Amino acid sequence: MAETSVSRECDCPVPADHKDFHAGFRDGWCRNCGRKLNPDWLSTDENFNRFFDHLAATPGVHPEFVEHCRRRELAGRPEFGCLFLDRENEIEGCEEVADFANYMMFSLLRRRREGRHENTAKALEAARHAAIAHRLALELASED
Ligand SMILES: [Zn+2]
Repeated sequence: MAETSVSRECDCPVPADHKDFHAGFRDGWCRNCGRKLNPDWLSTDENFNRFFDHLAATPGVHPEFVEHCRRRELAGRPEFGCLFLDRENEIEGCEEVADFANYMMFSLLRRRREGRHENTAKALEAARHAAIAHRLALELASED
């Protein structure tokens, strides 16, 4: 943390809050610097809902997807805490969607081996959405 900071909010690269995510205790202060953690930039239920409520209102987004995202985010909070504040999230997302497209190809290969209907069109459509997500994430990464 910069000693010259006049902010009363934590500006640690990775605030030390993650050990306190267990139920019933979260006091809102950084264990590194002792300053306040602004809930506007923490991974909280409120911020999750703010983002995913918008996503859920768009065509093609099913509640099952949002619930899957919620389960994964909640599972990751105690382990990863605030690491996302010091990570290139768009670049990490690009890695994930590239893996997703590979999974779609692997799905076809497995189905082929097992003599099942490959449904290439559906797998390609899913991979196409990953490609679009990849491009958008790179665009976000290039923004200030
Ligand atoms: Zn701090």
